[in-house]
Amino acid sequence: MSAEWLLPEEMLREAPSYTPRPHELADLELLLSGAYRPLTGFCSRADLESIARRGRLADGASWPVPVSLEVPAEVAERLDVANPRSRVLVLTDPEGAPVAAVEAVETWDAATGWTAVAGPVRRLAEPVHGVFRRLRATPEEVRDTLPPGRVLAVIPTGPLHRPQLAQIAHAARRLAAHVLVMVPVVEHTADGLAPEVLVRTVLAAADRMPPATIIAVPFASRGNDIRDGLIRARVAAAYGATHLLSSGTAVNGSAVRIVVPRELAYDIRDGQWRPADDVPPPQRRAALTVEQIHELLDRGVNLPEWHTPPAVADELRRARRPRDQRGLVVFFTGLSGSGKSTIARGVHDVLLEDGERTVTLLDGDVIRRLLSSELKFSRGDRDLNIRRIGFVAAEVARHGGMALCCPIAPYASTRAEIRKLVTDVGGDFVLVHVATPIDVCEQRDRKGLYAKARAGQIPAFTGVSDPYEEPTDADLTIDTSSVAVEDAVELVLDHLATGGWLELDGLLESSLTS
Ligand code: ADP
Repeated sequence: MSAEWLLPEEMLREAPSYTPRPHELADLELLLSGAYRPLTGFCSRADLESIARRGRLADGASWPVPVSLEVPAEVAERLDVANPRSRVLVLTDPEGAPVAAVEAVETWDAATGWTAVAGPVRRLAEPVHGVFRRLRATPEEVRDTLPPGRVLAVIPTGPLHRPQLAQIAHAARRLAAHVLVMVPVVEHTADGLAPEVLVRTVLAAADRMPPATIIAVPFASRGNDIRDGLIRARVAAAYGATHLLSSGTAVNGSAVRIVVPRELAYDIRDGQWRPADDVPPPQRRAALTVEQIHELLDRGVNLPEWHTPPAVADELRRARRPRDQRGLVVFFTGLSGSGKSTIARGVHDVLLEDGERTVTLLDGDVIRRLLSSELKFSRGDRDLNIRRIGFVAAEVARHGGMALCCPIAPYASTRAEIRKLVTDVGGDFVLVHVATPIDVCEQRDRKGLYAKARAGQIPAFTGVSDPYEEPTDADLTIDTSSVAVEDAVELVLDHLATGGWLELDGLLESSLTS
């Protein structure tokens, strides 16, 4: 229901506002566009119970999957469900622009600190947030443009290489259907491609497809294949699809007919993709695995034309650059005095001398003097400090540069967060654990910090009075009590060269002897 909701201006002005999480914003967009019809708001408790029991809303309309909104308890406390004039919550996009209002007709405690809010939603403004906005038509707009007859929806979960394109062509031909490609644009793909890259790879394959309509749809994953399958089928039907090409779990009883594609293989005799069983093994070439594709891209080798249309390969090459041109964050973690800065500086200097890659050194102490000068050493402040370092490092990596970071980073969850930040922008993340034992670090006590910590002058000092969570995901572990500085530097450089991020030739040769 996109009918404008006549809310008095002053009511909206006084209403609290809140930016839902990305998956909820995705649901909101689908609610507002009519893609979730008959659902017109976030589910009530009665709806949720009814969906779980019989796949229907409380009013009896068929609806397969819960769609709910949870807000921090302190936001919900500002709503008075009993009073229609003060139960409106304005929902904003990540930039803070109002998108919609939800009338909270019911609220209840959800997870700790979170309150579920149920009620109808109304659009307040046209959404402007998100990539490929021009491809995000409403179901009504799309249905109006589709030719009569069958429509085969395809929801790509990755780039369309020739085997996927052949599957689409086979199914479309067999059904005599028009193709509707619905590209998910909320999250990275399972293989780590950003949504805008996925859209570009699909557009690049458009001329290899039968006549197709390509749209972008804010599908967020619900972390459950069956629910994802059900809701995607439902949305595909709303957009006018009669069939859906399955890309994973085939869900029966959904709103459209599910077409399960056969596994295809390349027939070297005539260069066609056909059902694998129809090609004799000696002439059969299987589709490349994701790992094989990544391996080729990492080394800067073109994807073979028999497998991937050149235009699609170009997009993938741009998105996943060869390792020696790709953004990289080398993140040193370890106790104070373990040798992180010393090793990082050594690596930094060799790279500066070499000049092949640009490099930024984000040293913990330097950052604290500049970016984080107001922060102290509470867990919250330390986390924020490391997040700032991670943010800067990820921006460096986004643009193909290399960043070396050396904060203590004692908490595994923060390190994991930064790893994700970096890989989400297409960079690589190498975690180096400088695992020097605490007694050695304490003996060195270069900055006198351990003495102060033992004397109780520094509260919550890592290793003394605050935990250090040992990494279980380190790519390299160096104990500097048994490895000399220059050897530690070489270990890191070797690792980077072996991984393909650097050319080692000549990197370590002294200019005096050459
Ligand atoms: P962190 O950055 O981890 O706090 P620093 O690099 O600032 O540690 O300090 C480590 C200290 O240990 C320096 O004084 C360094 O000279 C000394 N050290 C001794 N042996 C080594 C080694 N093999 N690798 C790194 N540092 C070492």
